[in-house]
Amino acid sequence: MEPLYVRVHTRDNVAIIVNPDGVRPGDRFASGLEAAEGIPQAHKITLRPIAEGEPIYRYGEVIGTANRALGAGTWVREDMLNLPAAPSLDELALSTAVPAPLQPLEGYTFEGYRNADGSVGTKNILGITTTVQCVAPTVDYAVKLIKTKLLPRFPNVDDVVAITHTYGCGVAIDAPGAGIPIRTLGHIARHPNFGAAPLVVSLGCEKMQPARMLPQTTLQRLASAQLAVLSEDPYVLRLQDEELRGFESIIGAILRFAETRLEQLNKRTRVTCPTSELTVGLQCGGSDAFSGVTCNPAVGFAADLLVRAGATVMFSEVTEVRDAVHLLTPRAATPDIARDLIREMRWYDDYLARGSADRSANPTPGNKRGGLSNVVEKALGSVAKAGSSALMGVASHGERVTTKGLVFAATPASDFICGTQQLASMNMHVFTTGEGSPYGLALVPVVKVSSRTALAERWYDLIDIDAGRIATGQATIEDVGWELFRFMLDVASGRKKTWADHWGLHNALAPFNPGPVT
Ligand code: CA
Repeated sequence: MEPLYVRVHTRDNVAIIVNPDGVRPGDRFASGLEAAEGIPQAHKITLRPIAEGEPIYRYGEVIGTANRALGAGTWVREDMLNLPAAPSLDELALSTAVPAPLQPLEGYTFEGYRNADGSVGTKNILGITTTVQCVAPTVDYAVKLIKTKLLPRFPNVDDVVAITHTYGCGVAIDAPGAGIPIRTLGHIARHPNFGAAPLVVSLGCEKMQPARMLPQTTLQRLASAQLAVLSEDPYVLRLQDEELRGFESIIGAILRFAETRLEQLNKRTRVTCPTSELTVGLQCGGSDAFSGVTCNPAVGFAADLLVRAGATVMFSEVTEVRDAVHLLTPRAATPDIARDLIREMRWYDDYLARGSADRSANPTPGNKRGGLSNVVEKALGSVAKAGSSALMGVASHGERVTTKGLVFAATPASDFICGTQQLASMNMHVFTTGEGSPYGLALVPVVKVSSRTALAERWYDLIDIDAGRIATGQATIEDVGWELFRFMLDVASGRKKTWADHWGLHNALAPFNPGPVT
């Protein structure tokens, strides 16, 4: 393979190396540039001499300033850049470059499960939500029995999943921020893939009582059943209730609740639904310098297809958007939406400041090994997932998104916390990765897209879509975007399985609790 680099924007004075084995000193590129030293794949090379103090451009944006003079063909390592200040939140352009509506995309459907509340499921799962960690092992014990003794009798039900977590008690339940884990779990309890109806196991004495977690509308429906162990309408089981005597009685009660719900779920059938019923959560994890030129732009293209088909597309991860916020506020459909985005950035700035951290804490050793020098470069690549459409809405942490089109749903960037929070809304998940992660979620299909072909080949039975072909010119962004779009419809219909579901790789849920633990 000839020495090859990818330059994203004409303003860029660095490019990234494409060759899997990197380049050697003296290797000459088609442009005439010569590598001054050995440079690994995905790492940056200077395209011309850069003076000390001069900005370094990638994606046409400043990713840092050179803290020493760099000759042409130099390997730009992370310690050679000074991190620029984050864009000021007080001087952003609001709604000044709103993209025109994209051409509608008709004729694409999937086979989903329609729920009474109007939501649509992509899986058919019995979900048992817990209010507190104390009951988690008991519910896990019951789930094993449900899977072996009950589930085989209900062939239309895909799985039984316990929603266990570390929140629920020993926390300042009225503290600012406590609403975030509470509403996240409340929405998950009524997930479209659970038939949108909760089945809750509570201990009894915990701080997060079921009445705190479930919204008023659900509670009204539960009114009489809420605290009854053997109610005719079983939604909430409380282990400390007098009627339950001993562990076997507790397990028996959970199994009776489960059986009633399995009978209901087993009656669900897939019906043809428009693509507009998809709510797709986008995330990246283990990103590298290719993420912003291969997988994330391909996901961005698929995001535009989904928006054109009337679906909801959520992008998240505040610390990976913060340094690109100046590219997003102009795209907000209204100044109020732009202000909502700024509000979420400011909230997170304050949250990090309270922990004496800042956004520079984001990149991991793996990100850096993959050629990403700092969070600015990571953010500019990350927002490529958001495609090119207007920003139609902003949701706070753990809120359920109902707006159609492109929406920013605030979450931390941590993979499993972001995924947990997006579950408040999404029925389909797309996860891009450069370094590789076997991440998966039980509740929704997780489609994994790799930034490099080498990863897709090494992890041939973990990566669903290889976007690395874009870097070598074997496929275009459009090709991979369409492939991803069609694969999502197949997976949402149950016609195809993601590798994560094939192997049953399902990460634990991790609700974001910014409040104090007592
Ligand atoms: Ca992430």
